Amino acid sequence: MSHYTGGCLCGAVRYTITGEPRSVSLCHCTHCQKLSGSTFTLNLVIREQDYTQEGTTQLFEDKGDSGNPVLRHFCVTCGAHVLARIASAPGKVVLKGGTLDNPGHFVPAAEIYASRAPAWLPPVAGTQRFPDGI
Ligand SMILES: [Zn+2]
Repeated sequence: MSHYTGGCLCGAVRYTITGEPRSVSLCHCTHCQKLSGSTFTLNLVIREQDYTQEGTTQLFEDKGDSGNPVLRHFCVTCGAHVLARIASAPGKVVLKGGTLDNPGHFVPAAEIYASRAPAWLPPVAGTQRFPDGI
């Protein structure tokens, strides 16, 4: 079975994923920009049962475009955003791909909220680009 590992910046939070992600995409939304301090995030949607975590995360309750809660989990020590759980997508974990030990392994198939990407950032080859969410 496939097996991938990752963790936060300081190492207090470590995780293992078994199985393959359901989707891999880049998100340019303003929330991803603010929470990451960058201009986009790499997101892996995985099944809850495929995710195992060691270490404690702190919860920040954000809201998605739909108004539904997005539960964002950060390392309490270093502040790295590790994952989110979306109330409207139960049973799924949205993992922030930059926290993977090998973030280059998963190739994004889509870019979402591309209308909010900076003009200097060209489309990523091989992705389907959506101006808003999907
Ligand atoms: Zn940490």
